[in-house]
Amino acid sequence: MPAASLAPAIPDFPALTARLAAVTPAQVDRTMASTGLTLERLAALLSPAAGHRLEEMAARSASLTRQRFGRTIQLYAPVYLSNYCANRCLYCGFSADHAIARRSLSLDEAEAEAEILRGRGFAHLLLVAGESPPHLGVARLAALARRLKDRFAALAVEVQPLSEEGYRQLFAAGVTGVTVYQETYDRRVYAQVHPAGRKRDYDFRLATPARAAAAGMREVGIGALLGLADWRAEGLAIGLHLAWLRRHFWQTACTVSFPRLRPATGEFQALAPVGERDLAQLVFALRLFDPDVGLVLSTREEARFRDGMMGLGPTRYSAGSCTAPGGYSQPERAGEQFAVGDHRSLAQVAAAIRAQGFDPVCKDWDSAFQAA
Ligand code: SF4
Repeated sequence: MPAASLAPAIPDFPALTARLAAVTPAQVDRTMASTGLTLERLAALLSPAAGHRLEEMAARSASLTRQRFGRTIQLYAPVYLSNYCANRCLYCGFSADHAIARRSLSLDEAEAEAEILRGRGFAHLLLVAGESPPHLGVARLAALARRLKDRFAALAVEVQPLSEEGYRQLFAAGVTGVTVYQETYDRRVYAQVHPAGRKRDYDFRLATPARAAAAGMREVGIGALLGLADWRAEGLAIGLHLAWLRRHFWQTACTVSFPRLRPATGEFQALAPVGERDLAQLVFALRLFDPDVGLVLSTREEARFRDGMMGLGPTRYSAGSCTAPGGYSQPERAGEQFAVGDHRSLAQVAAAIRAQGFDPVCKDWDSAFQAA
């Protein structure tokens, strides 16, 4: 597929915001009783007019989640491999502008971090790194994946956007998932918060999930960093991207994450703050829009909020996360990307999930699930 056709056209945010503001209560009424991946439905669910229907949306979202995912909540943990980064994203602790302790793990060190997580019971790993190919390129990621793949049920990466060929090499080495956030789908804000580096290329980033899917990845994860632009318009843009991926790569599973800005080196302040009620509406709207999409709520959020959302829409939680490279074996040796909000261990998060009547799932349950 040529690059231009690897992503949907994203409308300007003022146009999306105007569309959201124009939604009437009657449209919300009709939407609550309908199904389908249409932008009109999603706009109604994300609109200010739907704000007073949050409880109803939560109930419907919970019911759809139960139908499609049962009582399971999957758990995973990130392994930060390197905090070197050539980019200067204004909101990130790893920005090249910051004088933090930098570290790139050797294969042995990365394997040791993964082993610590395996010992704690994790079987799904997300390999994360700042964007600095000289410090961590495809060859080393593939070498690490080959070392880990037989000991973990699933390996995913959240690293610099790669070519389709790069993703093919990772897939052949045992990586089955790719997560890449657009950060913001608002082109104007995107240019503002990415003043330098390869990441300035909005379109290359937007086409990344499609390149990963085209390379055979079983799952692609998308999302926006909430706090950079109008969250309702971000939600519409996420929905557009998601529906496009569904149409073009129907065999690929999709997930959406909802990272909210967290305190980080640099003290960047949110340009468009997103409250917990806003975040909840966004999660419910995405679930009602696409009942089959995996929804991820990470340790950026506080324990109280994460516990309150269990069963209402999210299907995947991270736990016991450290955002500094080597941080599981040597806490506080290298700079972290951001401060996490939920500091509980895997066992504590799993206990909280069980306490609400859900089943924490730490290993890939595909084969058992299919045989059942
Ligand atoms: S968000 Fe990613 S690309 Fe930007 S500075 Fe942080 S690690 Fe680098």
